[in-house]
Amino acid sequence: MISIIGAGPSGNYLAYLLAKQNKNVHVYEDHKVIGAPIQCTGIITPELETLIPIKKKFLTNKINQAKIYSPNGNALHVRFQKEDVIVNRTKFDSCIADMAKKAGAKYHLGSRFEDNVGKKMKINGKIIKTDALIGADGPFSRVAKSNGMWCDRQFVTGNQVTVEVDCDPKLVEFWVGIGLFGWLVPENESIARVGIVSYVHPELYLKKLIDKRCPKAKVLSKEPGAIPIYNPKQILQKDSVYLIGDAATQVKATSYGGIVHGMKAAAVLARDMKHYQKNCRKEVGRDLYLSLLLRKAMDRFSEQEWNNLIALFSKEKLRNVLETKSRDYPTKFILDLIFAEPRLLKYGRKLLF
Ligand SMILES: Cc1cc2nc3c(=O)[nH]c(=O)nc-3n(C[C@H](O)[C@H](O)[C@H](O)COP(=O)(O)OP(=O)(O)OC[C@H]3O[C@@H](n4cnc5c(N)ncnc54)[C@H](O)[C@@H]3O)c2cc1C
Repeated sequence: MISIIGAGPSGNYLAYLLAKQNKNVHVYEDHKVIGAPIQCTGIITPELETLIPIKKKFLTNKINQAKIYSPNGNALHVRFQKEDVIVNRTKFDSCIADMAKKAGAKYHLGSRFEDNVGKKMKINGKIIKTDALIGADGPFSRVAKSNGMWCDRQFVTGNQVTVEVDCDPKLVEFWVGIGLFGWLVPENESIARVGIVSYVHPELYLKKLIDKRCPKAKVLSKEPGAIPIYNPKQILQKDSVYLIGDAATQVKATSYGGIVHGMKAAAVLARDMKHYQKNCRKEVGRDLYLSLLLRKAMDRFSEQEWNNLIALFSKEKLRNVLETKSRDYPTKFILDLIFAEPRLLKYGRKLLF
């Protein structure tokens, strides 16, 4: 028996892949409803389609343009060749869980993993024996804690509200320099998800963004949450215990998106459990590590440097790369950018000091 703790995108996708291999899979989820409450914007790159088909039942919107505002108010306007999808996380998570159930996985909702001693785990006070234990239980993973796999884990806060606001339904707006960055992601022409990511003062930065973009907007709901910062030294596998997704800090630090990489890690684990850690560091970890280095460099940019960089990106050759290449693979993306504009290399020194 394989026990997966957590019915988020990573846990559900792994359950689906393992159940398809006729494995005896059980998913234990603390909440009574899969994917609720939502703590996510739900914007996903076209890369998603390489993992699962994009279905109408979870699709909220598709966007094909982005405007990135620099601190001086200038904007870089990018038109993507392939559309990003905006999903409803409750429906998205439930849809993957349905795929897993159809393939034979068993779901136990309202079932909280407490801890484990070796192959005996405690769920809602009951001892259950398992052959393998997978922690897909999000940023504060109890599976990681219970098995000495917490490591040196740090977080940023994502603070988001859904608001009524006039907006272009095909355009995502980003602001650099408000917290780490801020966004407005449209659901349609009158509702959008507005949020920021920051190390500190998430309330203050969200207010700053709302005051700037939509001071009179009616707030419909709030979706804040913690996001782990990728740790390249994170232990992913110990005896018969494995971590995937946010539980394994597998989040891209440039955008703080974790859905695609958590699902990719699930695919690596489902393919070969024995060599998961080694394979995952190679296949998923390299891009996550480069994203982390880029984030560290970006954190050192002054307002003037952001203004200059966004002006540089407005040039056709660089805009072209942004519009056509996948942002999920910085190892390839960065080379394309530097090839198009060698002057970008001067920003490389930010990696050092
Ligand atoms: C404000 C905000 C906006 C974001 N926007 C985006 C975005 O636009 N795109 C993107 O790609 N990523 C985004 N992210 C990150 C994204 O939400 C996560 O990377 C993603 O949800 C990780 O999926 P997961 O399956 O690994 O973990 P989770 O989605 O966190 O799922 C973990 C599951 O485990 C369950 N669980 C936890 N503890 C236990 C326990 N002890 N027992 C049983 N069950 C348990 C939880 O209830 C939960 O259902 C955002 C995050 C935040 C906070």
